[in-house]
Amino acid sequence: MSDDVCRHGLVIIYTGNGKGKTTAAMGMAVRAVGWKQKVLIVQFAKGGWRSGEQSVLSALDGVELVTLEEDASWIEERSDEDNTAEAQHGLDLLEQAILDQKFQLVILDEINVLLSKGFVDVSRLLDLLERRPEWMTVVLTGRGGAQEVCSIADLISEVQEIKHPFQAGIPAQKGIDF
Ligand code: ATP
Ligand code: MG
Repeated sequence: MSDDVCRHGLVIIYTGNGKGKTTAAMGMAVRAVGWKQKVLIVQFAKGGWRSGEQSVLSALDGVELVTLEEDASWIEERSDEDNTAEAQHGLDLLEQAILDQKFQLVILDEINVLLSKGFVDVSRLLDLLERRPEWMTVVLTGRGGAQEVCSIADLISEVQEIKHPFQAGIPAQKGIDF
């Protein structure tokens, strides 16, 4: 579904080892919903971790939020088969979104982590990005990524860690980190 507000969809990558990638993508989701656009958020590699924005966003009209957890553990603790299955499941959802022509914005949160570790079928991802409607924006977040996807991206922002409270022994906090 096209509209006047979003005619030129982009492939956007938020990568880097600093904090702010997922929150940037979720901010975009809120921004899009404010213009009555439809948003699909697919969350990879969360390991059962819950974050404050999830319940708020999924309750919004026009947002579909899917958290993929092949067995609710961290990517490092899962079998390669489970990580590959999770990546495949995410691409299935992207493919369905492309067929449905319903979402102006699709966020693949943390997919870069799975890309870095080789669990994503990169040629299928590239093919899907190529085939998406021209008005659909796809955001890929997470540390690392894949060179092939960077090559076709329209926008890449790398969040660089200058300082993080973790270094000072301050653990992750509600409302700030999750
Ligand atoms: P956020 O979700 O806050 O936008 P992010 O998506 O950029 O963060 P991830 O790599 O997904 O960061 O990591 C998620 C969690 O790890 C967050 O709680 C974040 O504060 C924390 N984190 C991010 N960068 C660092 C860092 N350089 N050192 C330690 N912890 C970090
Ligand atoms: Mg993140």
